[in-house]
Amino acid sequence: MTVPQTTRQPCARTTAEGVPPPALPARWDPLVRDFLADRSALDRAAHRFGTPLHLIFPQVFARNLTRLTAVLDAERIGYRICYAHKVNRSAALVRTAAALGASVDVASAGELESARRAGFTPDRIEVTGPKGETFLRALAGSGATVNIDNQWELETLAGLARPEAPVPVLLRVSGFPDSRPSRFGIPVGSVDRALDMLADSRDRLDFRGLAFHLDTGDIAERLRAAESCFALLEQAYTRDLVPSVLNIGGGLRQVFTADARRFDDYVQRLRDGLSGRGARMSWGDNTFGYQVDGTSVRGTPVFHKYANTVAADEMLADLLTAPLERHGGRGIGRVAADNLLEVWLEPGKALADHAGITLSRVEFVKEAADGSVLVHLDLSRDSVTPADQEVMADPLLLPGRPPAPPGDPVGVYLAGRLCLERDLITAHKIWLPWRPRPGDLVVFPNTAAYHSDLSAATAAMHAPANKVAIEFREGTFRATADADFRPAPSSGESLSPEVP
Ligand SMILES: *Cc1c(COP(=O)(O)O)cnc(C)c1O
Repeated sequence: MTVPQTTRQPCARTTAEGVPPPALPARWDPLVRDFLADRSALDRAAHRFGTPLHLIFPQVFARNLTRLTAVLDAERIGYRICYAHKVNRSAALVRTAAALGASVDVASAGELESARRAGFTPDRIEVTGPKGETFLRALAGSGATVNIDNQWELETLAGLARPEAPVPVLLRVSGFPDSRPSRFGIPVGSVDRALDMLADSRDRLDFRGLAFHLDTGDIAERLRAAESCFALLEQAYTRDLVPSVLNIGGGLRQVFTADARRFDDYVQRLRDGLSGRGARMSWGDNTFGYQVDGTSVRGTPVFHKYANTVAADEMLADLLTAPLERHGGRGIGRVAADNLLEVWLEPGKALADHAGITLSRVEFVKEAADGSVLVHLDLSRDSVTPADQEVMADPLLLPGRPPAPPGDPVGVYLAGRLCLERDLITAHKIWLPWRPRPGDLVVFPNTAAYHSDLSAATAAMHAPANKVAIEFREGTFRATADADFRPAPSSGESLSPEVP
């Protein structure tokens, strides 16, 4: 099938030349779209909580959880889904996870406290990440499962644990064949030493199994990691340890784009601008990770993940069923079940996918020396971008007071509120349907996972954006301060954390 080179988007405004401008159409969840279309609900939230504002949609989070559960149920395996708290500080999201019967992955004392307040009992809490002695001391008698990062941590915990309350532990493993280097986990070659230690400490440490978490969307890399872990578990059996868990971590991906073809077209034009073949579409000397050498532009851009079109539940199904060579073609799910292992997951961004957006207001518009149009917003780059990223999904411009004015698309850069050159929210040019006016609203899509919280700071003494949970109930959208949000008892069937 040949793909037409130019497609007219019926609703996209065209430039004066009659062609649609370059665009990175974002996917918007239908519930979020309905909320934005309900102007009175939007205005009520913005009026009550001000801007900038992070809007959290617990119902979208709940649906994401249900989708992953459906994949695991279909595989007929024992499993546990641990929501990786670090994607967002939101109380509404962690309370929703607790109410739906999921487990939680916490990576700090603060997250542990947040999980407890949300109602998680220790048997549903797993602690990952690097832990110092103070934290380990607090964990020793807590009942939470400790996912051990390194040999020092293992030895320290063995020293702190007491036979009256053995500590459930997982060993995080890293350094698999052909994996990228990781600063976390015990190297494959050192696992036997750790297993010796676990066998010697069996009265105090309750070895539950092995874990990995890979910071990549690559399925093949995960399959190799799982094969290595199955082989290492054999070594555990020879020491009379009885593992019951294989934890395959997080890394299930998000879908930001609504139109992969226009995304590719935009990126091609951006590259042409960098090489001098086309009009420039980037601010200053930004190259987004490309190596630009004269007229050649090579390499993988920092923003490649925004092009993904594979949904998390599809990726999970592939991951669980892809044939493992050393196991007669059975998949991870079957091999785990045949060895009486539960599969644990630690999804973060996949659960928060589309469960949040960020609302900001236009302060003013100005022109730079080169004629570029700069639209100043009331928030900073770190409130809507994960560290070092360039977010390649177009925000939505809404009139401060409807209706939208007539106008032609205008190419702009969005500028942040900090007096730092680097506080540009978009360093790539985006096209808005009219030249924004003070008071207009700019809405950023899909900000709940890492975008809104991970690198947000209080630089220049700006207060961080407020956070508010939006729920659709009894025919209306209700806004509740995130800290006060409680999931409705009827907000969904509870998921059992472990299915035999
Ligand atoms: C961050 C993290 C996760 C979550 O990763 P996602 O890519 O958001 O799914 C899971 N496990 C560990 C150990 C992590 O550090």
